Amino acid sequence: MSEGPLEADVCVVGAGAAGAIATFELARRGVRVVTLEAGPRYDAAARAGEARRAARGEAPWVAPVRELLRYTTHGSVAYDLGPRRVRAVGGTTLHWEGYTLRLHPDDLRLRTQYGLADDWPITYEDLEPYYVLAERALGVAGVADDPSGPPRSAAFPLPPFPFSHTDHIFAEACGRLGIGLQHLPQARNSIPYDGRSQCRACATCEACPTGAKASVDLTHIGRAEATGNVTLASGAVVVRLDADGSGQVEQAVYADARGVQRTARARVFVLAGGAVENARLLLASRSRAFPHGLGNRNKLVGTHFTSHPAVDVTGRVERAVHPYRIGFSTAMSRQFALGPDRLRRAPFFFEFLNSAGLPPHLLALTSGLSGDAVQRHVAREFGHTLGIRIYCEQLPDPGNTVDLDPSVTDHLGMPVPRLTWNVGGYEHRGLDEAAALATKILQGVGATDVRTGRLSVAAHQIATHRMGRDANHSVTDSDLRMHDVPNLYLLGSGAFPTASASPPTLTIAALAIRAAEHIAASLRSGVGKPGA
Ligand SMILES: Cc1cc2nc3c(=O)[nH]c(=O)nc-3n(C[C@H](O)[C@H](O)[C@H](O)COP(=O)(O)OP(=O)(O)OC[C@H]3O[C@@H](n4cnc5c(N)ncnc54)[C@H](O)[C@@H]3O)c2cc1C
Ligand code: SF4
Repeated sequence: MSEGPLEADVCVVGAGAAGAIATFELARRGVRVVTLEAGPRYDAAARAGEARRAARGEAPWVAPVRELLRYTTHGSVAYDLGPRRVRAVGGTTLHWEGYTLRLHPDDLRLRTQYGLADDWPITYEDLEPYYVLAERALGVAGVADDPSGPPRSAAFPLPPFPFSHTDHIFAEACGRLGIGLQHLPQARNSIPYDGRSQCRACATCEACPTGAKASVDLTHIGRAEATGNVTLASGAVVVRLDADGSGQVEQAVYADARGVQRTARARVFVLAGGAVENARLLLASRSRAFPHGLGNRNKLVGTHFTSHPAVDVTGRVERAVHPYRIGFSTAMSRQFALGPDRLRRAPFFFEFLNSAGLPPHLLALTSGLSGDAVQRHVAREFGHTLGIRIYCEQLPDPGNTVDLDPSVTDHLGMPVPRLTWNVGGYEHRGLDEAAALATKILQGVGATDVRTGRLSVAAHQIATHRMGRDANHSVTDSDLRMHDVPNLYLLGSGAFPTASASPPTLTIAALAIRAAEHIAASLRSGVGKPGA
């Protein structure tokens, strides 16, 4: 790396889902990009090491600089961010499950349809062509078997994974209750695709040793670098963005892997650090022109922090259900994620688990037994638990926030993010109804000892810099360009005005492709700070 400032047309902060995709989409259009990633670069050829850690039940992606993961949490529910993000080239897609659902047209117009929250400033029709591109780029396996699924202009690029043994058990009970069970679309190779191997069902998906699960280091970073237009610096922690007198960003200030402060200059800047770090960086970038943080004239940055409240419902069955044979789920129901019931309770999504209950080694370790009694315990208990995971939509609440903790800093002296997260009555009503329904399904398959687990949360951080038409009530426009800072774009699920009940990353990818297209076109027409 050169000792002077890095210079490019576009500086991207973060090489996770949004940043890697934007980097590639810009670079393939001839745009010169410098991408700054706080975490390390893991060697894909050595992924068996991380997979072994996952198999042992350890966290496979431990940041070498632990301070990078520092945060504090407040509010009535502790939002445990630690295991819910990865800081590395590839970002959290190194660890994700890969479930890739499109949002439904109604998810984007809650205000118009139900008088709730806000509409998105774009429609499903605007997003649809980008969903097609995102599904192809990530390699999504699926089939359009959801009768209420969103309209599609192209088939899934890969065939679906077949229903599992447990899915067939659930399907019987769901059929009797009138509940549709569909294939769960996922960015995982059901057949060899895009130079990556077919899934081998080895069940360490937190770190896939074969490359069958899409992670953007595999799908996008190599290709982006092969264009010759990209400089990617890993171990480069951006600590602030500096704006000039005209209110445009002129440089990103970052600490390199040795802790030395450096700068990157560009015409356009793209923040793709995830909903938490994007908000943190904006709030930390205070100046005379932006005393409340960059682009935070209306004090909206970091507000409305949203996720997917979740619970698991499990039950014990006498028959053997053969869990842990594959590392992921293959069936879902979105039947209750749509429709006018949204007026009275949160919509919810069912994931039918292929691996519920403890695996054998944890049954043994937690039994407190020794000798032959351990073996008898594991033989009796293993493989007799079925489970349904429930996620619900959380409505954006201005009181749920990401801000700067005034009393805790990281190793670079930067205030850590402080998460304040509460779950309201709307969400609790949705989860209660969902748990009652899941209980009925489990009882329908003959389960006993049916239990609803404690309130948890999905690893989805959403809506800290929401897009919208009105500059007084949103942070970016529909192209994800900041209303207040014309050469700064904010990518990722922080831009979602509402969360839906579905996982966010396919939509993050679609929006990143769309924003990159817009940025490349704007650069051609002379937008951005000249001279970088
Ligand atoms: C266990 C798990 C399972 C999941 N399963 C699913 C799923 O099935 N489906 C789904 O849709 N989603 C899933 N997710 C969520 C999904 O991984 C995220 O939605 C997605 O990765 C977010 O993309 P992103 O680019 O916004 O952020 P990330 O992928 O987290 O990338 C952000 C990157 O920016 C870097 N960065 C941040 N701040 C700075 C800074 N100041 N300077 C430099 N770099 C910075 C970070 O180090 C990181 O590498 C899962 C997540 C987890 C943890
Ligand atoms: S089960 Fe498939 S996707 Fe999961 S780790 Fe194994 S090969 Fe990768």
